[in-house]
Amino acid sequence: MKITMAHGSGGEETSKLIGDIFEAAFSNPVLDRMEDAAVVAGSQRIAVTTDSFVVTPLFFPGGDIGRLCVCGTVNDLLMSGADPKYLTCGFILEEGADTEALKHIAASMAETAAEAGVCIVAGDTKVVEGNGGIYINTSGVGFVPQGRDIGAACCRPGDAILVSGSLGDHHAAILSSRMGIENQIQSDCAPLVEMVKNMEQEGIRIHAMRDITRGGLATIANEWAERCGLGICLEEKAIPVSPMVQSFCQILGLDPLYMGNEGKMAVAVDKNDEERALRCIRKSRYGQRAAVIGHIAENGQKTVTIRTALGGERVVSKLYGEGLPRIC
Ligand code: MG
Repeated sequence: MKITMAHGSGGEETSKLIGDIFEAAFSNPVLDRMEDAAVVAGSQRIAVTTDSFVVTPLFFPGGDIGRLCVCGTVNDLLMSGADPKYLTCGFILEEGADTEALKHIAASMAETAAEAGVCIVAGDTKVVEGNGGIYINTSGVGFVPQGRDIGAACCRPGDAILVSGSLGDHHAAILSSRMGIENQIQSDCAPLVEMVKNMEQEGIRIHAMRDITRGGLATIANEWAERCGLGICLEEKAIPVSPMVQSFCQILGLDPLYMGNEGKMAVAVDKNDEERALRCIRKSRYGQRAAVIGHIAENGQKTVTIRTALGGERVVSKLYGEGLPRIC
């Protein structure tokens, strides 16, 4: 069935669409009350975030917009030190959107939410004129335990910087789909709950965390350097990139440092916790290829430098201008 303007009327067709697809996929005691707002148990300190997903294609190797929109918001909550709890989702459907596709997307969202341990508690659907597009906004709420303070301003000289796995996978998978290039590259789209929990349980002194999305590792490192007022030194040889993504990048002249992932994180930890943090991430689902890739410098120069594989050193700038549009 195709979405028509009647599905956005707020009447019978809307109820049926919501019942058949979203209630069927997301049913839980909070959502099933179907009131104007969800009422949920709270916490003293809450983290709130929102993100919109406009990726094309909707289905790509390794994931789809449904898995992506849950992972993106869950990971943003995690990176701020929160335990992710609740999600809301807003669907903007263009006339002509396919309801079978929508069913797959909703199922994928439900499955990913269950994996990440979050509950979808509210939602909205709008239909607009257009060409069959599907766009999703997800907002998320998480609880931040007392005393947990994580952010770039907390970075200290000598901190070790780790990444949880190979760079560029999601970006390369989307680009391959869009350009019709056949290869085995899969998006890494994943919730990072387990690796963050493992570090917290081990008492790792985490100073900053970011999921590596648009702008890539280079942009994160530059933002951290600016915020904490210290330099950052990266080690090119230590940065994991899969052989397939590496050759894909060489052919197209792309730099993995600027490419987005959707299931990888960068973390700055106290230098004495480096080895333990690495072990925590490596034993987690999605963290087997974690590596220590650099450190926060001892000086006050807010620049990011990288020691190249050939032994030289160069400055790494932020991503300027247009990255690839619509990778998330
Ligand atoms: Mg983020």
